[in-house]
Amino acid sequence: MARQSIRRRWRWLAVITGVLAVIVLVWLGRPVLHLVFTAVRDAASRPSTPPPGYLDDASRLNRTRIAEVWSMPAGVSDVETELAALLAHARAEGRRVSIAGARHTMGGHTLYSGGLVINMLPWNQMELDEKRDVLKVQAGALWRDVIRYLDARGRSVAVMQSNNSFTVGGSISVNCHGWQHGWPPIASTVESFRIMLADGRVLRCSRQENAELFSLALGGYGLFGVILDVELRVVPNRRYRLEQRVLPLKEALELFEEGLRNRPGLEMVYARMSIVPGHLFEGVIINAFYHDPNGEIPALGAPWAPRLRRLVFRGSERSAYGKKLRWSLETRVEPLLRGKIFSRNQLLNEGVEVFQNRSEDTTDILHEYFVPHRHALAFIQDVRRIVEEHGADLLNVTVRDVREDKDTFLRYATEDMVAFVMLFLQERTEEGERAMASLTRDLIDAALAHEGRYYLPYRLHATREQFLRAYPQATEFFRLKRKYDPEELFQNMFYLKYGRAQVGG
Ligand SMILES: Cc1cc2nc3c(=O)[nH]c(=O)nc-3n(C[C@H](O)[C@H](O)[C@H](O)COP(=O)(O)OP(=O)(O)OC[C@H]3O[C@@H](n4cnc5c(N)ncnc54)[C@H](O)[C@@H]3O)c2cc1C
Repeated sequence: MARQSIRRRWRWLAVITGVLAVIVLVWLGRPVLHLVFTAVRDAASRPSTPPPGYLDDASRLNRTRIAEVWSMPAGVSDVETELAALLAHARAEGRRVSIAGARHTMGGHTLYSGGLVINMLPWNQMELDEKRDVLKVQAGALWRDVIRYLDARGRSVAVMQSNNSFTVGGSISVNCHGWQHGWPPIASTVESFRIMLADGRVLRCSRQENAELFSLALGGYGLFGVILDVELRVVPNRRYRLEQRVLPLKEALELFEEGLRNRPGLEMVYARMSIVPGHLFEGVIINAFYHDPNGEIPALGAPWAPRLRRLVFRGSERSAYGKKLRWSLETRVEPLLRGKIFSRNQLLNEGVEVFQNRSEDTTDILHEYFVPHRHALAFIQDVRRIVEEHGADLLNVTVRDVREDKDTFLRYATEDMVAFVMLFLQERTEEGERAMASLTRDLIDAALAHEGRYYLPYRLHATREQFLRAYPQATEFFRLKRKYDPEELFQNMFYLKYGRAQVGG
């Protein structure tokens, strides 16, 4: 009797263990299979590079035949004389010149068909003035080199993008911004720069000296001359403590607008919205980084788990399940694994390659919209409707705080703004291009309806009318471009679409 009861108990135990094992397998099996499948697909993707004589940009939709790439000759004593001679020669031949940093713009802002491209990348020396906390840096330097250099000297970049793969010259020429909380865009950190104009003259520009050109070339998309070197204000590298919250949309935007605005010690904020289909934008992860003076600043190291994060991210494309999985992992698992203490430089030091699309068939296209805080909720509700109507594959939305820009002419932050950065997956086909153009125009209309603007470094899908509504100062901007560059030596696709058509305007 007793033996029978023991046997029965064992049988029950076996059944329960079996059921639990099946539950665990199903629970873990689907995500594991999903990630393995993504890894196999990702490993097979190898994008082709443009053939000799052609260049493209980060969109991988702008393959352009160019006449020549001229690289700034590093280590040569008289580079400026060489560059001036090159520009004179191009003028004499009637050739157009475009300027390229890391070419992470997406609208041909570095390209002109049949033109000469100046490659700034080798021009990358830097020196810190420790007394003034000012970095003098050549325009081709990449942020990843700047961060390494500053880290060794206890300093950090004041304002830059969320990745380290861009050049200083390209960053100030679009007037970038990042998730440094409470800062205007990067122009606010520029003390001065030197620029070579089309006629070979080199001018120093600051708020006091050649002030008009200072405000035009910052955010000037390479249309005024070659920015040679820049004096950038830097800040201390610090130890930060992360406080993470996941909030419903309305609460998150209220916290962004009021709760976090002037909170003591808060230095960086990174917020990401849920992109789970059917629950678009319902939740927002807010990562707030506070200065924590109680301890050592962690040493600069490699990015955290780049391979795994890439798989989780790429696994979200064209997959509702992948998007859900990513949201669960990023809200529940990552905070447990990643820790809470970071250095500022570590947070800034991640390259775009961690998430970059490598597929031949698709590409990732960025959009960014700036709207005043008072319209943020209404705007993002419009975005939800538009994205759903278009059936667009939205891969990411981050939210940032950008303060009023008082420095640049073609400014987007005309007052304190909330920035919504969106990443969409696009087919590399004509149909994909048409669909993206139509989506972009609808989103721009929504931003304009809420007193907002769109960001200019991405695809050139805005109509001229939309462009002028967003940037009414553009007519004067292009008139001044022709004042400084009367022969229109410096040109690119952005100028062709929105600038040159307005001659006489
Ligand atoms: C994945 C990704 C993430 C991004 N994240 C952000 C972000 O968080 N915040 C943000 O604000 N932007 C962001 N951007 C946009 C990015 O800031 C711009 O594309 C920036 O221009 C990239 O720098 P770059 O060196 O690649 O510039 P390029 O694309 O090479 O050049 C940009 C413009 O600057 C001009 N230019 C470059 N160097 C000089 C020079 N020395 N003198 C004169 N003109 C010059 C070029 O002619 C061109 O018009 C992102 C882009 C990508 C692809």
